[in-house]
Amino acid sequence: MTDDLSRFVAQSPLCSTHEHTEFERFYQESRRDILTHLFDNYVIHDLFSAGANPQSIEALLDTSNPDIENRFKAVETAWQRIRMGGFAEAVRLAAFELFEIEDISPESLRRSSETTNLVDSPGERLRLLRDVANLDHVQVDPNRRPLPLEMLGQIFFHYDLNVFDLCNGTPELSELTEITGEEVHSISSLASAIERLLERSHKYVVALKSQHAYKRTLEWTERSDDEAASALDSWLRLGSNISEADRLCLGDWCTSFVARLAGTYNLPFKLHTGLYGGNGFMNLNYISARHLSRLVARHTSTRFLLMHIAYPYSDELIALVKHYNNVAVDMCWAWCINPVHASEFVQRFIHGAPVNKLFIFGGDALTPAATVGYALQARRWLARCLRREVSEGFLTEKSGVDLAGFLMMDNPKDYFDVAAKSAALLAAGSDTAFREARYNPFRNPTKSIRNSGRS
Ligand SMILES: [Zn+2]
Repeated sequence: MTDDLSRFVAQSPLCSTHEHTEFERFYQESRRDILTHLFDNYVIHDLFSAGANPQSIEALLDTSNPDIENRFKAVETAWQRIRMGGFAEAVRLAAFELFEIEDISPESLRRSSETTNLVDSPGERLRLLRDVANLDHVQVDPNRRPLPLEMLGQIFFHYDLNVFDLCNGTPELSELTEITGEEVHSISSLASAIERLLERSHKYVVALKSQHAYKRTLEWTERSDDEAASALDSWLRLGSNISEADRLCLGDWCTSFVARLAGTYNLPFKLHTGLYGGNGFMNLNYISARHLSRLVARHTSTRFLLMHIAYPYSDELIALVKHYNNVAVDMCWAWCINPVHASEFVQRFIHGAPVNKLFIFGGDALTPAATVGYALQARRWLARCLRREVSEGFLTEKSGVDLAGFLMMDNPKDYFDVAAKSAALLAAGSDTAFREARYNPFRNPTKSIRNSGRS
């Protein structure tokens, strides 16, 4: 790796626009070992898909058993079948970076486990992400509200405000009341509670985020206040027994209401599109980005950021981005799902749509060790893909470096207004009156992100 472009991509800081990095307290309590650092991530879904049984995967991640060799041996056959895949590639990169393992085997894992200096110490989470992965900052989706108090007074961990329950048509009303002071008994009081939530949190969060594609179609339909009022009534009376029609109606209304406020506060609205994490429940009819065309056309002053390149429906995204000035694409999770698909996507994108609407990296991971692997993988494939553009004469070496710097740093920092958000987090950190106010969107989390109960 001697050329300027490859060196630049390997060494430049990089923004991560999507992670689920575990809160510091839960990170320290997690008691990881080498196998959970390396395998407690998406790779288990490929192992399962390759035929590993659930018990052996559970045993692989069971840190109460110190027998590293046998825990790995039970999934070794499946590992050999997936090792060319993107999830496994990131594991191999992390194994080399963090444990100096060149070839993953029962013996190499055991040997490295005896000498590792990763011990869940305070600050280890930050050190792995900032110093090892060389990330500029990370944007964490904690999967649910309230926002964690630990985000105040620092500028490395930025947060999304999660609105999944609203978009899903299953609004968590007691929690909304607890953090806004608004009792919800009608559609107008639900509107006030959501307004209050945004009013109090918009300065501190980088985006709104919803993953409702896991539980319903992304297809969106305009709903009147009267229709939504009747659907909310069902939700208040029936809770989780609400009919599917009412749930979709309430979800559509809330999605639209939230989208409008996102526009008012100039917050990007991140939406999960495409492949599901996990196994055994994906509904391909829910996840295509094409379902969102009506929503993005309805809210032209709201910036929509569609995630995971809607794998495998990625070219639809390029068409949406090309056509609508308020739609952009986040390649979070995309490199590891399938790095060949992702790098071809980048090439098709830059020859088809404006590059200021392409966000190049998010590890989408709970553990920092996984993010280290995903960041190395993204750098490797981005360099390879831009290198190809240079060798085919579409970019000079210099313009390749400039484009890489723009995609890795300048574009996300600008789009998410990271400087202003950082200033607000620092100011709020020293403002005790603000922290002690009865109704604010921050609390010490009582649940880990892993156990948030949401996709
Ligand atoms: Zn995610």
